[in-house]
Amino acid sequence: MTKPLRLRLNDGRHIPAIGLGIWQVPAVATAATVSSALQMGYRLVDGAAIYGNEEGLGQGLRASGLPRDEVFVTTKIWNSAQGYDSTLAALDESLGRLAMDRVDLCLIHWPCPAQGRFIDTWRALIRARDDGRVTSIGVSNFLPEHLERLVDATGVVPALNQIELNPRLQQAELRALHDRMGIVTQSWTPLGQGASFDAAPIRNAALRSGRTPAQVILRWHAQLGCSALPRSIRPARQAENLALCDFALTDAEMAAIATLDEGVRCGPDPAVFQ
Ligand code: NAD
Repeated sequence: MTKPLRLRLNDGRHIPAIGLGIWQVPAVATAATVSSALQMGYRLVDGAAIYGNEEGLGQGLRASGLPRDEVFVTTKIWNSAQGYDSTLAALDESLGRLAMDRVDLCLIHWPCPAQGRFIDTWRALIRARDDGRVTSIGVSNFLPEHLERLVDATGVVPALNQIELNPRLQQAELRALHDRMGIVTQSWTPLGQGASFDAAPIRNAALRSGRTPAQVILRWHAQLGCSALPRSIRPARQAENLALCDFALTDAEMAAIATLDEGVRCGPDPAVFQ
């Protein structure tokens, strides 16, 4: 079994560097997907209320036979639940569906700046953390101005910002800001849904190291210091995506992959998404 790498959060906790993403995993398949991933060595599952499969996440964890404390579970507050009271209610609903009394990490899923409620939402997550319903708190899809407003208003720095990040969207400026603020960068759509698998820097590094394009890209995330959330319901791919500890990319390979940045998003623009 491969033991995943871990990253330290600014609250002293640790998060596995590789996690299983379960967006678009059908609700009926989620328990089996989560359970098989945990049995092969995954220790982080990235869920969200909007994914509609929190029940399956909880069932999969229990079916895996692992103690609850060995698995890092994330959920997220969806846009329509932003605001202080509605966030606390949404978190309790997620805990009910997961059948857990706490999650390891809860994120604000999108900043939704036009709603103007993310600071109240953040205050609710601080309260939930202080109450023990959440161990660590963070954000997702936050741009620099949103991070700065949160910290100015509350003094509480998110442990993590989960952002779209892959070879075509490398987010160097935001990663540098995270480093300065002590925020872990976590990559969603880390494989870019396969769009860079045939690019020469990926192919060449795969040939040289005897790994797959997906492994090269996930190793690139690890060497950037990011946590990453590849999604697959296939056990063979899940295992492939976890096996990153016994090889490394060279500086020249990292530099070659850096040239693939096009600033192209697969997902929505956080400045306007509601
Ligand atoms: P991804 O980059 O993980 O791509 C998934 C696709 O790659 C799937 O089609 C899968 O079959 C394929 N794939 C996976 N492993 C492979 C392998 N080894 N070889 C070949 N193909 C492989 O992208 P994603 O699913 O869009 O994102 C991953 C996770 O990120 C989601 O499941 C979710 O947890 C999270 N996410 C978060 C947000 C957010 O707003 N916070 C948004 C989107 C996704």
